[in-house]
Amino acid sequence: LCASSDDDISPSPGVENLVIIGSGPAGFTAAIYAARANLKPVVFEGFQAGGVPGGQLMTTTEVENFPGFPDGITGPDLMDRMRKQAERWGAELFQEDVESIDLNNRPFTVQSSERKVKCHSVIYATGATAKRLRLPREDEFWSRGISACAICDGASPLFKGQILAVVGGGDTATEEALYLTKYARHVHLLVRKDQLRASKAMQDRVFNCPNVTLHFNTEAVDIVSNTKGQMTGILVRKDDTGEESVLEAKGLFYGIGHSPNSQLLKGQVELDSSGYVLVEDGTAKTSLEGVFAAGDVQDHEWRQAITAAGSGCIAALSVERYLVSKN
Ligand code: FAD
Repeated sequence: LCASSDDDISPSPGVENLVIIGSGPAGFTAAIYAARANLKPVVFEGFQAGGVPGGQLMTTTEVENFPGFPDGITGPDLMDRMRKQAERWGAELFQEDVESIDLNNRPFTVQSSERKVKCHSVIYATGATAKRLRLPREDEFWSRGISACAICDGASPLFKGQILAVVGGGDTATEEALYLTKYARHVHLLVRKDQLRASKAMQDRVFNCPNVTLHFNTEAVDIVSNTKGQMTGILVRKDDTGEESVLEAKGLFYGIGHSPNSQLLKGQVELDSSGYVLVEDGTAKTSLEGVFAAGDVQDHEWRQAITAAGSGCIAALSVERYLVSKN
């Protein structure tokens, strides 16, 4: 099939080519690629992170590992740039949450509180949310002592050379703890149960690492700070005895998993047992033709801005191929 540079692919009255749901690195990258391919994508940005579009990076300060920014860039600045780039190429952005999607009938229907959009294809890029402990002082210390991403934050000056703690007993927590030993003076692993759930290989690595101390039957209760408001420790409780004490630590990392934001797709496309959208290996294709998924909502393993952006690119290019094949 051949198209002239001015052609829109498959324009039909009242039906959009593509709706993208989500405004994180996956959604905006998909929007940039789709807009540049003349698909005129409609983007529902959502506003989960503190009432603004931009996804998870809106809740962080410095992003030091996104290529192209040798001196780092703040999360909000990075997302603002991606947003502007998508707009510049003609993506239509709505700062609205999608409330329902009907994928049973074609064209598909995507509904927010403000509008109903019919479309030939959907890219679902709604991200995932790190599970939190909901400690009393959690909001006060989020990104100022508490983090849910060792790869993102472990090397930051706030944590480098310090005593840190990780909460959790599975693969995520053990990986985070081991990763942090590259930078931290010492790492405490706080495990609620009396054993680890992590794979045998990860358990062996943790047990053999002198820089990690395991605390079984132990729960984090709250953050302890000094008079300047800086985190100095964690109030912990031994579950078997109920005894409470303060563990010295300058940082607390959550390794208790993520929840993919896939609720709207339940029963319409295949999800795995944890709710992640299943995509065909190496592609963005879901179990339903015309519906694609990108970013953390389909990725329980890597969960980085660059991998989300990469999968957004794959999704947009796949949509372009899909629409051309249907023409
Ligand atoms: P998200 O960024 O989660 O975006 C999902 C989007 O979907 C949001 O805009 C949300 O509002 C929208 N949405 C959800 N539901 C709906 C709905 N119903 N309707 C409309 N929109 C909806 N990664 C790095 O590479 N480097 C870092 O330094 C780094 N630091 C991080 C720091 C923190 C505190 C956190 C939490 C994460 C960090 N990450 C970092 C991870 C990175 O942010 C994620 O991997 C990345 O944002 C995933 O992108 P995404 O587009 O898949 O999803």
